[in-house]
Amino acid sequence: MNDCLFCKIIAGEIPSKKIYEDESCFAFYDIDPQAPVHFLVIPKAHITGANEITAENCAVVGHIYAVIAQLTKKLDCKDDYRVVTNCGDLAGQTVKHLHFHVLAKRSLAWPPG
Ligand code: AMP
Ligand code: ZN
Repeated sequence: MNDCLFCKIIAGEIPSKKIYEDESCFAFYDIDPQAPVHFLVIPKAHITGANEITAENCAVVGHIYAVIAQLTKKLDCKDDYRVVTNCGDLAGQTVKHLHFHVLAKRSLAWPPG
């Protein structure tokens, strides 16, 4: 966990463009945005990925979706946005700390690549 990039961002050891923080989650802009609005919301607890969500730690996931609903309103996303969680190497997960991408303010194709 000590080598985790997102744990270091939460701790302030690596700078980020923070949008929001509370006792259980942290939101910041993605360093390589794929849409006019692209931010990440992460639990403060180190959870490696979606495959590590359990009955014991899952409350933060619902909380994060509630935070996303608030932040997208605040950022004037007009209730149009996509939430993405990549899990595992084949899905393109590069940072092994659970995170929710929020993409907005452009038309998004489906299916994703
Ligand atoms: P994923 O590929 O789904 O694991 O997403 C990881 C995301 O983290 C990518 O979209 C990266 O652009 C983003 N990222 C990597 N390093 C940083 C950083 N220092 N600050 C903000 N976002 C980052
Ligand atoms: Zn971490």
